[in-house]
Amino acid sequence: MIKLKTKEEIEVLRENALLVSKTLAEVGRHIVPGVTTLELDRIAETYIRDNGAEPAFLGYGGFPFTLCISVNDVIVHGFASDYRLADGDIISVDCGTFYKGYYGDSAYTFPVGEISDEDKNLLRVTKESLFMGIERAVTGNRIGDISYEIQQFVEKNGFSVVREMVGHGIGKKLHESPEVPNFGKRGDGKRLQEGMVICIEPMVNAGSRSVHIHDDGWTLSTADKKRSAHFELMVAVTSDKPMILSTFEYIESKNI
Ligand code: MG
Ligand code: MG
Repeated sequence: MIKLKTKEEIEVLRENALLVSKTLAEVGRHIVPGVTTLELDRIAETYIRDNGAEPAFLGYGGFPFTLCISVNDVIVHGFASDYRLADGDIISVDCGTFYKGYYGDSAYTFPVGEISDEDKNLLRVTKESLFMGIERAVTGNRIGDISYEIQQFVEKNGFSVVREMVGHGIGKKLHESPEVPNFGKRGDGKRLQEGMVICIEPMVNAGSRSVHIHDDGWTLSTADKKRSAHFELMVAVTSDKPMILSTFEYIESKNI
């Protein structure tokens, strides 16, 4: 069942969304060659708690960290570790908060030092596909309209869309109905209604869409070991235009 949110609930979700966005920017400021991903995880946990919120992923279904940190060929749900980031890596950081009874959830893929033109293109296409999907998130459209837009743009650019993981509704639960796949047909799926709040989150592989799940039961990587990117924003559906609740502005303007 899809839970529609009141204006008041959307404002609390926005507070969560902005805290997640700021946390990602705080993490981003520390993404340099030589830093360990465990250090980044600690920075995020401290930042979230200092702002009076809880890290939503820590302990969620047994997940052991504040951030999902997915480097290079890891798609999503990677573990923080003593791995030191190297020049030319790409690192996807997915972050969740729990504050005033509601959740926040967003993700960004950062370059480490200087990355290849191919990787720059992967990051650009993945992020652009997210915004193209978001444009479709208005009342009257269906989930499939978002999915189709993302898949078309990604595949037109020669990349592939991960199908095993999808976007989702968000509210008092981290993952609510409806699912928001990054592949599909126009006109398919649930109709979008005012008050729906969804996370749209394309996961895009440079090579084939086939995935490999690691023995830890969480880490999902590409089967062909090529790289993968992930961008996620929270969006409230209105009859006018999509209301984007989280933002990459703190990351990209490099000030919080
Ligand atoms: Mg999500
Ligand atoms: Mg996420």
